[in-house]
Amino acid sequence: MTTFHDLGLSKNVLSALEALGFDKPTPIQEKAIPMVLAGNDLIGLAQTGTGKTAAFGLPMIERLLAEDRRPDPRNIRALVLAPTRELVNQIADNLRDFVKKTHLRVVTVVGGASIHKQSQMLERGTDILVATPGRLLDLVSRKSVTLTQGRYLVLDEADQMLDLGFIHDLRKISKLVPKNRQTLLFSATMPKLIAELAGEYLTNPLKVEVSPPGKAADKVEQYVHFVPGKDHKTQILRQTLNDNPDGLALIFSRTKHGAEKLMKHLDHIGFKAASIHGNKSQGQRERALKAFRDGEIRVLVATDVAARGIDIPGVTHVYNYDLPEVPDAYVHRIGRTARNGRDGIAIAFCAPEDIRLLRDIERLMGISIAVASGEPPVGMPGPGGKSVKGRGGQRGGQGRPARPQGQGARGGQQRTEHRAQSGSQSGERGDGTGQNRHAPGRPDQKHAEGRNRNHAGGRPGNNGNRNGQSRRQNGKREQA
Ligand code: AMP
Repeated sequence: MTTFHDLGLSKNVLSALEALGFDKPTPIQEKAIPMVLAGNDLIGLAQTGTGKTAAFGLPMIERLLAEDRRPDPRNIRALVLAPTRELVNQIADNLRDFVKKTHLRVVTVVGGASIHKQSQMLERGTDILVATPGRLLDLVSRKSVTLTQGRYLVLDEADQMLDLGFIHDLRKISKLVPKNRQTLLFSATMPKLIAELAGEYLTNPLKVEVSPPGKAADKVEQYVHFVPGKDHKTQILRQTLNDNPDGLALIFSRTKHGAEKLMKHLDHIGFKAASIHGNKSQGQRERALKAFRDGEIRVLVATDVAARGIDIPGVTHVYNYDLPEVPDAYVHRIGRTARNGRDGIAIAFCAPEDIRLLRDIERLMGISIAVASGEPPVGMPGPGGKSVKGRGGQRGGQGRPARPQGQGARGGQQRTEHRAQSGSQSGERGDGTGQNRHAPGRPDQKHAEGRNRNHAGGRPGNNGNRNGQSRRQNGKREQA
């Protein structure tokens, strides 16, 4: 078994890791740490949750310590760019844990917080600056910071930075950091533009990959409710939330306005809820995330600002209240659950106009998502495609999952298969604790044994007669 010690890390860093309870490196750490320590540029294809922050952070810290320099005032030694404020804070928190026993200083700059304070923080020089691109450029143009002593550049979640329109900012910033630097680029996927960016800004990069794109969510149980409209979504949501009082539910809405409205509604009907989206201040976003992380609130309604990177190990349920326009976003969203070896459930709602979005997602993931209730509108495309085994069931090629519903067929067997598969594919740590295995609110929990096991996403009293269920849904649709 490889240890962190074998990877060439020094005493101070090793003791910080011990204090954190990191006893062995994750697959990406095992591969990337020696490469980065040796000074190579690196492309890492990996999702958050694989331990990639330590994969780039630890060797970078090690090299910074070995150089034994101090940054000049208003200069930096290493720069980490990430797409969202939340991710910046999360990365910085991790790095601060790693440098606790050293003199290195980690500073963050993000939009939505006081630029004046950030400017002051940068005054005495920074070893590691973690930043969102826009705010960093503002500070550069105010001459609050210069990047001329930068020897390390990390682009984290590069594909999301691209999606958020940061490409020009990234190009500008890359030119401000001296050429004789070490550059590390991490991305969950490798679209053409990222490959081009890597070609331009990295020198002879090595590549590590721990999770094939689209496969990260192997451990998540996925369900879809076909609903005739919004009211039905809210009804089912309310029911499943009630069924899972101890769960932590992250609910994705397409728009900021929709997220706020849904949060208010949930709050009104008695759920402790908060929301995070682009209209919230940095402080509000941080407070909401903290309250959710600490379990003070059990429901967080979010737009895609929370789809990537956010690491809250206790999330038991991810709801796609609205399906995302871009199928990749679904994979990122559901990756917020089933973290650190735990189980997780993803429940999607699909209104008639969303069916194509659902099919795009299924195509990307190579699975058909198990139907928890309702049926796709008549005449709409079925999952189709080749038969690929996936978390959501085997592809039947007939517009619905081949896995029989309501017969207890999914349970143990399929779960075990996928667990083994995901362990080797995704490179995620499995702590083997099975924590949350019986995650409160698993759709099948209440109606499991001794009845037809229906995995209907927590519809109480639904005893798994698929046809009956469909009829009821159709009835609703007629009324609606
Ligand atoms: P990341 O992918 O960097 O966001 O890491 C995901 C989570 O795994 C974070 O909560 C880390 O603190 C944790 N983590 C990273 N590496 C290890 C390790 N080797 N052992 C245990 N936990 C880890």
